[in-house]
Amino acid sequence: MSKIDGTPVCRKESFNCPRCGAFAGMKWNDLLLNGDEYASIALSICDACKDPSVWITDEDRPMSALPMDGRLGGRPTLIFPLKCVAPEAEHDMPADIKVDYEEARLVFTHSPRAAAALLRLCVQKLCQELLGKPGKIHDQIGELVEKGLPSRALIAFDTIRILGNESLHPGTVNLNDTPEVALTLFSLLNMAVRHCITAEKELEAIRALTPVTKRRDI
Ligand SMILES: [Zn+2]
Repeated sequence: MSKIDGTPVCRKESFNCPRCGAFAGMKWNDLLLNGDEYASIALSICDACKDPSVWITDEDRPMSALPMDGRLGGRPTLIFPLKCVAPEAEHDMPADIKVDYEEARLVFTHSPRAAAALLRLCVQKLCQELLGKPGKIHDQIGELVEKGLPSRALIAFDTIRILGNESLHPGTVNLNDTPEVALTLFSLLNMAVRHCITAEKELEAIRALTPVTKRRDI
């Protein structure tokens, strides 16, 4: 995770600003608790946008090894702004599903498992939307297969269904330990939307260009 989020920059003098995204020079300021004690929190102020980002310093050196002025020099982890590392929702994702998807993006950093459970809910809603009726997610995916759901979308649906199941047995995949796996579920849901909604819309639009009388009744 630390490679994509909360990037440890070790107080580099310039990096991509978490606020504006520009590669810019940064000024570091340690937060002072009182006259001679520093909190393990530091601000980096961006030269480009002048906005501060807040970092917590995970200092594991003993106090005696700290510099004389008590400043903490440990590896900083970004705590504000919260970075959303999960991909954005597909344009054609239905609005009520997008709400859950956005919530999954928000909680992902703190609980990949909670995010996966929300994505499972997204799949459930998507199945309902495609079939036009509610039902059990397992059965619905089966029904969609019978209806000719592309197998790629089926794999996407089924992976999210399984990994987003909170009742997964202990000892199987723990998404909190493997956030990379949970992160792929976002892409899978987007892929399912592209296959099941976007592709269908495009096909409909092309079909609308052909004369009705010449069409086969498919
Ligand atoms: Zn900036």
